Amino acid sequence: MKQITQQAWAKRPLIISGPCSAETEEQVLATAQQLANTGKVDVLRAGIWKPRTRPGSFEGIGTKGLPWLQQAKKLTGLPVAVEVATAKQVEDALHFDVDILWIGARTTVNPFSVQEVADALRGADVPVLIKNPINPDLELWLGAVERVAKSNIKQIGLIHRGFSSYGNTEYRNAPMWHLAIEMKRRNPELMVINDPSHICGRRDILMDVMQKAIDLDYDGLMIESHIDPDNAWSDAKQQVTPEKLAEMLNTLAWRKEDVDSESYHAALEKLRQQINHLDDELLQILGQRMKVAEQIGTYKKNNNITILQTNRWNEILDRAFLKGDKLGLSKEFITRYFDAVHMESINHQNKIMNS
Ligand code: PEP
Ligand code: MN
Repeated sequence: MKQITQQAWAKRPLIISGPCSAETEEQVLATAQQLANTGKVDVLRAGIWKPRTRPGSFEGIGTKGLPWLQQAKKLTGLPVAVEVATAKQVEDALHFDVDILWIGARTTVNPFSVQEVADALRGADVPVLIKNPINPDLELWLGAVERVAKSNIKQIGLIHRGFSSYGNTEYRNAPMWHLAIEMKRRNPELMVINDPSHICGRRDILMDVMQKAIDLDYDGLMIESHIDPDNAWSDAKQQVTPEKLAEMLNTLAWRKEDVDSESYHAALEKLRQQINHLDDELLQILGQRMKVAEQIGTYKKNNNITILQTNRWNEILDRAFLKGDKLGLSKEFITRYFDAVHMESINHQNKIMNS
């Protein structure tokens, strides 16, 4: 791997920025120069081939834009990163010296496409970042990592860009943090970068998501930037100027994963033990709850009643919302928690009723 790429790849937090799409040579060079001037950006990104959800919008400048990136690299010293989705795109990107490749969310969903990209990567000494698939499916994301790894690519990283979900939420792609955390847990050796731009889809809430990612100890951020965001040819609403980007990076509270202080460690250890005790208690109580559910199952079986009784379930939830509110627990958490407990109870009762 080239020296500058190696250095950038090892940098923490790794900050990748640049336009959603390369549009013109002037735009690419000006953005690159302004980003480099901030002194806060490690890698320049730009979309050359854009997988658009519907035809008719700007589908990327194509291979013609690759020399612009070479030029930008020469001008600023920043390594460049590009999204690839086909074998030809991998070939072209490598031919024009692109330093880091990434697989986009619309490609990660398709094993044929991922395999095609992985086959084209065989023998290349280039780092590859893999975005989560657009749908919340960890297996697909893992599958893409495995396909790329089988092509003997040694530097692999993950990009968490959120998951499309049905209905209105404040996000363009719901972050579903728990999925990214689980992916990180299963692949502790891979770097995980957060992409707040595609999660938010809008500028005004970028900071919240960036801060959350930093608090969750992500290895870096990929944020879209443009010299004239409102007039960008793609993703205009979510891009920020390089100047604004620098300001946001300055405002973030950067946390340390660890500090050298014995009293800090002792205090933390005590609190962690408390958490362990509380978790043990919760598990004990949940086990008891399931035993009671089984008794109810036996009763229902003997009297031939259905397991699911909607009225009773609504009553349980309403009680929990009221209590939870007083304890500072969100309605969303209560709903998810009780859904999980309820499903487990139903499974226990099911076993009894069908035994
Ligand atoms: C992008 O990075 O511009 C892009 C197309 O992102 P995603 O694959 O996350 O939609
Ligand atoms: Mn984009």
